[in-house]
Amino acid sequence: VVKNPDLVVGIDLGGTKILAAAVDAQGKILGRAKRSTDPEEGSRAVLSRLADCAREAVARAGREWPDVRAVGVGAPGPLDPEKGVVIFAPNLSGWKNVPVKATLEKTLRKPVFLENDVNVGTLGEHVLGAGKGVRDLVGIFVGTGIGGGVILNGQLHRGFNKTAGEIGHMIVQIGGPKCGCGNRGCLEAIASRTAIARDIAAAIRKGKKSSLGKRRAIDPSDLKSGDIAKALDEGDRVARKVIRRAARAIGVSILNVIHVLNPEMIVLGGGAMAFGDHLLPIVRKTVERRVLPLAGDRVRIVPAQLADDSGVLGAAVLARQRMS
Ligand SMILES: [Zn+2]
Repeated sequence: VVKNPDLVVGIDLGGTKILAAAVDAQGKILGRAKRSTDPEEGSRAVLSRLADCAREAVARAGREWPDVRAVGVGAPGPLDPEKGVVIFAPNLSGWKNVPVKATLEKTLRKPVFLENDVNVGTLGEHVLGAGKGVRDLVGIFVGTGIGGGVILNGQLHRGFNKTAGEIGHMIVQIGGPKCGCGNRGCLEAIASRTAIARDIAAAIRKGKKSSLGKRRAIDPSDLKSGDIAKALDEGDRVARKVIRRAARAIGVSILNVIHVLNPEMIVLGGGAMAFGDHLLPIVRKTVERRVLPLAGDRVRIVPAQLADDSGVLGAAVLARQRMS
């Protein structure tokens, strides 16, 4: 029997893949494992893969399962972090009321903690990434959608119904493009990777010249982040114009967040940071030009540092914090 198990396992449950990492007390990854999610096989099969993944990460770290203290899981939501239940997840073939915590605790015989993936990403950046030592921080993750996490007084702020941080659905343009949530002009509908690809494709279809595609053949799903980043580097005018609009919308959202919460730091992460070099200067300028005196003083807007590990490391931080 191990008296002081020092490892935690962080699991990042995404719509396409499951990532797990065995993480030591210093936040160092000692072993990793990966599986396809294949959510169409049902929640039982997915949770069983999650458990396999956790055990494999520990084995790859050269350690034994009894060395593990707790397991943290970041999952798409909405979810109930206290009961450890995923309430509804369109990204997981429409999971409804899946008892992740109860099921995994039975299989793994360790305490399991569940949290929304964006909150987990924010926790990771706060403790191990860009936000080390910062008390008030907001994380904004721009990917196929846009999510946010809020840390106030060093603690994750969940709000009354545990839904705080929905920055993607902050309306930045009344009457703007339609969002998946049903409203118009949400940040997500203007600045997500999906919206950026949609707008580039629409401009090309209208006849604007771009290295990213030909008028008739263009489809938004063909536009890969790497290609958009390359076009931006080469000065492609269509790509630059669309990115400018997205960056300004992100900047306006951040401005509003700064005015309401006055955080010390905003951490920007997610897949769209592939064009971070083009995005960030415009985001910062948009904020600087409009921010109220004092509110924006010494507030830093910085890129996330943990990249693809933010999910597993954040889940490891979650497990450690809930155990203490
Ligand atoms: Zn919305």
